[in-house]
Amino acid sequence: MDLRTFIRDIPDFPEKGIIFRDITPLLKDKGAFKHAIDMLAEKLSEIDFDLIVAPEARGFIFGGALSYKLNKGFIPVRKPGKLPYEVISEKYTLEYGEAELQMHVDSINKGQKVIIFDDVLATGGTAKALKKLVEKAGGELVAMSFLIELSYLNPRNILKDENIISLIIL
Ligand code: IMP
Repeated sequence: MDLRTFIRDIPDFPEKGIIFRDITPLLKDKGAFKHAIDMLAEKLSEIDFDLIVAPEARGFIFGGALSYKLNKGFIPVRKPGKLPYEVISEKYTLEYGEAELQMHVDSINKGQKVIIFDDVLATGGTAKALKKLVEKAGGELVAMSFLIELSYLNPRNILKDENIISLIIL
């Protein structure tokens, strides 16, 4: 199954000049969604880790399914003002604008091994902010994984030395 056929390109969203990769066709197709989770789970099953850390909103969809399938804990990362307990924060630059992410201060026990998961790796700014949050919380980042990597934006340039596992490379 070629998962690329389930990704819809939306030109000029959310801003002019950006091609947004829309994964909702993949999500609504039970075979494609299952295939994506199964393939990602197979890749991640080779790694020794404790937790999946994923940002809202699309990171939750895959991160939640993968945590269940691989029998790992799940840590939600959210936009400011959403998490109820004490948080740690990280500001970063997105492909289109500025943003901030937060995680509960007690999400990760010191030394726990963490995999970051998100739907799309674009410029790498979000992934870098997630890595900083994980490290601030005392976790050990063992891999970063993505459904789609936009290689033409060269995200690996700012993520040197990271173990990056992407299912679809565009
Ligand atoms: P980055 O920080 O530039 O790597 O952007 C990655 C973040 O923006 C991820 O959380 C993605 O969900 C979101 N994102 C960026 N580009 C796209 C896209 O084309 N489709 C879906 N999400 C995107």
